[in-house]
Amino acid sequence: MAVSLCSGIDIASALTVILGMKLANKSLDLEHPYGHGKVEFIVVSGLSLLLIISAIVLFVNSVQSIYLQEKGPDQWLTLVAGLVLAGMNWIKYKYVKCVGFHFNSPAIKTLADHSKVDAISSAAVVIGVIFAKLGWHFVDPLIAIFEIGHIVLVSSQMLSGSINSLMDVSIPQADIRSLRKIVHEVNGVMDIGYLHARQIGRDLWVELSIIVDPDISVFNGKEIAGKVQESLSLKKEHIGNVQVQFLSKIKDSVATT
Ligand SMILES: [Zn+2]
Repeated sequence: MAVSLCSGIDIASALTVILGMKLANKSLDLEHPYGHGKVEFIVVSGLSLLLIISAIVLFVNSVQSIYLQEKGPDQWLTLVAGLVLAGMNWIKYKYVKCVGFHFNSPAIKTLADHSKVDAISSAAVVIGVIFAKLGWHFVDPLIAIFEIGHIVLVSSQMLSGSINSLMDVSIPQADIRSLRKIVHEVNGVMDIGYLHARQIGRDLWVELSIIVDPDISVFNGKEIAGKVQESLSLKKEHIGNVQVQFLSKIKDSVATT
């Protein structure tokens, strides 16, 4: 019963990602001038909710089997099934994670994390059976508690991560520093004013201001700004949009490219 419900959740998760990928892949249109990248974070929220449902199912099931003193399925069968599922889910986790990194897709990476949870759950079942065989039946409820706690922890991390991303949280400061370094190396950039970067789905969107020599022409300033865009796209992977504003040090004239 629990197994069929869990695989139902697995199928629903996979379908959510497939549907989300279709939407996220749409290019920008009049109604969505910033593209559809954020669909990825909505998908991640959905995945975390599905995982929370599986924790609730597991909880209800554990309570039921303790109170009803249900006779579980054959232990050897459970042991073998648990081992097979743990192995399969671990392979699936490694493979999907690789795909997620390739596309830099938060939704696919989250699907991989779900498989990791499934792999650990299956391994926990195996450990429970081994202890039950040894006659240590008190281990079984402990494992159920561990599993529920583990799923709740992972799914709440997924949920808070996706909410943060929807709120345009900045990328980590170390990554900001590496972006600033790239900009500083561009010829003609005297200094950097602000530099904001956020993840929109798979792509990194950067907004920054650079300080240029006040004696150069607007044309040259635009050229330097163009080089900054080029350099960021070349040296950083998955750069989406770069918006550069250039300011002259003394005259403070403002121009945007
Ligand atoms: Zn699952």
